Amino acid sequence: MHYHLGLTVFSLFPAVLVLLLTRLWYWPIATVLLVNILGLFKANVFLSLSFHVLKPMSGLFGGEGFAPEEMVITLGSEKTLRKFGGAIPAERILLLLPHCLQQHDCQRRITFNPYNCVRCGKCPVGALLDLADRTGVKIAVATGGTLARRHIKEKHPLAVVAVACPRDLGQGMLDAHPVPVAGVENSRPVGDCLDTQVDIAVVEETIRSFTGTS
Ligand code: SF4
Repeated sequence: MHYHLGLTVFSLFPAVLVLLLTRLWYWPIATVLLVNILGLFKANVFLSLSFHVLKPMSGLFGGEGFAPEEMVITLGSEKTLRKFGGAIPAERILLLLPHCLQQHDCQRRITFNPYNCVRCGKCPVGALLDLADRTGVKIAVATGGTLARRHIKEKHPLAVVAVACPRDLGQGMLDAHPVPVAGVENSRPVGDCLDTQVDIAVVEETIRSFTGTS
């Protein structure tokens, strides 16, 4: 539903531009149809195109200027879950976490082995390991886009549940193509990149949308 609405709303931007350029009524209609067809059959092309068209204007949308990223996260996740939901075995799902979830003064080295975490409860990492154990998904921690892409390449998941801030998540979801990604935004109560938090229930719900288990 959000995806189709987003497609139609986005298609109005190029349609208005085409109307101004051509001043012919049928070209904007053709543009709306074309964008919708492109979005339906080539979702990633649509999202990538929309992202790069909207990104230079993102400051105009107010807030933190993450509107294009939010669009990719919301529409991309919905499209991914609708297409692959209920069809992915848990062991072929990768739960990809950002390093900033770890308590900043924790000495445990979790980047290359998240199971070095002793689950002390001071940050969400322990509860996310519990969730991975409970659901059977793989888990990895990345310090940035390069390591995230490496984890995806090495672990060969059929689908990824990625937790990150909007900036990293939006770009990361586009970069991960063709691996389907459903994104969950972290919260940043003390600012970017430090002691971030995530709603474990939302992460679990997203995993279970992929596996089709309850
Ligand atoms: S739960 Fe505790 S041990 Fe694990 S990463 Fe967080 S602070 Fe470190």
